[in-house]
Amino acid sequence: MSRIQLLPIGKADLSSLGLLGAALTAEIGIPCEVMAGGLDPEPSLHPERRQYCSIDILSRMQEQLAPNPGRLLGVTPLDLYIPILTFVFGEAQLDGSCAVVSTHRLRQEFYGLPPDQELLQGRLVKESIHELGHTFGLTHSDNYCCAMAASHTVELIDLKSSSLCTDCRARSRAALSRSSMEAS
Ligand SMILES: [Zn+2]
Ligand SMILES: [Zn+2]
Repeated sequence: MSRIQLLPIGKADLSSLGLLGAALTAEIGIPCEVMAGGLDPEPSLHPERRQYCSIDILSRMQEQLAPNPGRLLGVTPLDLYIPILTFVFGEAQLDGSCAVVSTHRLRQEFYGLPPDQELLQGRLVKESIHELGHTFGLTHSDNYCCAMAASHTVELIDLKSSSLCTDCRARSRAALSRSSMEAS
């Protein structure tokens, strides 16, 4: 795969997107670039919930895909939901091209705690690797230290690392070599 494009959605912090891109490249070895434009979140707002529907965001991202897209990762400070859940940290198309992550509930302030930029950035990297992993066809890992472990709370995110376990790493390598063969 050629590249991962980071797409700001809403008022995403561009300097933190640059750091995220560097961390993702270091972790998965694929170049990242921050896209100049962004995606308008407002059509995906649920007026009563005051949250943004990640399913709707993913389908609108899909419409923006370049012909040979690699992966498109949306990053937003807004709170995301899917209809059956109170919230989601992120969502991805399994074995697809698009994923989205939210920093809203990764911030210590959300839990009434003092801000911690470093912790926030670390959580964002883990969640981004997790959602991108789904786009490589990876499902959830039983290894609680693996970035592909399911995490429904920030405590569980803090327990895991930003790396894939040996099994997930092997499966993502296989998926990546498949997609580079398809592209060539
Ligand atoms: Zn997941
Ligand atoms: Zn794993």
